[in-house]
Amino acid sequence: MRNLSTDVAVIGAGTAGLAAYRAAKAAGRSALLIEGGAYGTTCARVGCMPSKLLIAPAEALHALDRFPGFGLRVEGDVKVDGKALMARVRSERDRFVGFVVQGVDSIPASDKLVGYARFQDEHTLVVGEHSIVTTKATVIATGSSPVFPAAWASLGDRVVTNETIFEWVDLPESVAVFGPGVIGLELGQALHRLGVRVEMFGRSGRLGPLCDPALVDEARRIFGEEFELDTDFGAEASRDGDRVAVRHRNRSGEVIVEHFDYLLAATGRVPNVAKLGLDDAGVVRDAGGMPLFDRETMQCGQSSIFIAGDANGDVPLLHEAADEGRIAGENAARFPNVRPGVRRAGLGIVFSDPQLAVVGGGYRAAQTTRHVTGAVSFDDQGRARVMQRNRGRLHVYAEIGTGAFLGAEMIGPDAEHLAHLLAWARQLDLTVGEMLALPFYHPVVEEGLRTALRDAYAKLDAAAKERRAA
Ligand SMILES: Cc1cc2nc3c(=O)[nH]c(=O)nc-3n(C[C@H](O)[C@H](O)[C@H](O)COP(=O)(O)OP(=O)(O)OC[C@H]3O[C@@H](n4cnc5c(N)ncnc54)[C@H](O)[C@@H]3O)c2cc1C
Repeated sequence: MRNLSTDVAVIGAGTAGLAAYRAAKAAGRSALLIEGGAYGTTCARVGCMPSKLLIAPAEALHALDRFPGFGLRVEGDVKVDGKALMARVRSERDRFVGFVVQGVDSIPASDKLVGYARFQDEHTLVVGEHSIVTTKATVIATGSSPVFPAAWASLGDRVVTNETIFEWVDLPESVAVFGPGVIGLELGQALHRLGVRVEMFGRSGRLGPLCDPALVDEARRIFGEEFELDTDFGAEASRDGDRVAVRHRNRSGEVIVEHFDYLLAATGRVPNVAKLGLDDAGVVRDAGGMPLFDRETMQCGQSSIFIAGDANGDVPLLHEAADEGRIAGENAARFPNVRPGVRRAGLGIVFSDPQLAVVGGGYRAAQTTRHVTGAVSFDDQGRARVMQRNRGRLHVYAEIGTGAFLGAEMIGPDAEHLAHLLAWARQLDLTVGEMLALPFYHPVVEEGLRTALRDAYAKLDAAAKERRAA
């Protein structure tokens, strides 16, 4: 065993870990970046980037469906070359991974250690079978991993996750997607649009990150028109020869068995904390085994241990991982003089079509205060109709009394851009009145947002009048 010592040990060289390492170094401390798996981050290797690389050709192909409506005609067939398509996904993915690896290469070798780390006590880490690291403070940035029912192990190579799907050299004939969350929706819809027979199954009734019941219904209707989608039956899967047999309920309500080439398990992700020896480090955990931590400082209790990114199970998104990593790294460097970092307004986007987005705490957070809901349907929204993308609905939530904009949920065209505007407004603590005083060009999808804000404003006004009359 080799003995090493450092001011700050960072476990995991993903987005959060790299940000933590850089912050600790920028603060003038020694830091050691410990990585057990491959360099390159989940985002670039098996997450954000390869998923968008699969979605891009699916969107390009789907645009053809709007051709007849525009009076356009394609002469001859448009073919999907599955091999070329998957080759591009992998080569572009490798390019993105390459940039991350280049960044890791620029870190001095003496600051890096390869191997899985676990705590022996609060200030001692064992890495692999080769090193013992003594540290003043530690940042846990170990990310998360896909999880699915243990029984599906019997499906063998027929079950895929985000960690294996991008290795396909060709597109299969059929895929059963289990889990209509963010990952299932993005990958499942893309595969469907590329000509793969896709059916999607859930069991909790949920769809993506939406919580507003009216929007969940709208999303269920829109996606259900495009592909077979059952969000609540609880389908079952078993291996049958070389295929996966899925027992599910069809559109007519009959329970049937259908066969698929693969089952895509998009049934959730669990933080990688189980094997870290957290009890030996004295980290207090909740009933589910998750470390208790402060989301403004990233500190676990009063300890010298900080936790950032997907590992803490709070908001498993790339920009949050980067922010949390930086805050954790800064605080680990200055421990015990820990300070709260600045957290941004909530912003989550699903790159389905139509896109989904949640801003602030969305519907759920709005329920904690007296509020109104301003709504717009995109069905007749001018610019959306011009583009034949007039589907979906947007809800904005505003507080009665102050008029403060609380958050939003949406399914609709350009939701990724609308959500950014709304997240900025939320972070700046704008009221609905202040938002309406900002410029809106014509003709743009943002005019739909203005309609929702005007609706909220009128309802706030009515609530104020009611209050005065009471
Ligand atoms: C399919 C998919 C699509 C996504 N799309 C988006 C998107 O569009 N937008 C968005 O914002 N987010 C998206 N995300 C989420 C985003 O990718 C993650 O939130 C982010 O990558 C998490 O970064 P991280 O640093 O916490 O973890 P990671 O990048 O996973 O890094 C953790 C590292 O820790 C290492 N490690 C684990 N245990 C140990 C140990 N004991 N010792 C040493 N090393 C260890 C791992 O090997 C890994 O390298 C997507 C995720 C997936 C899966």
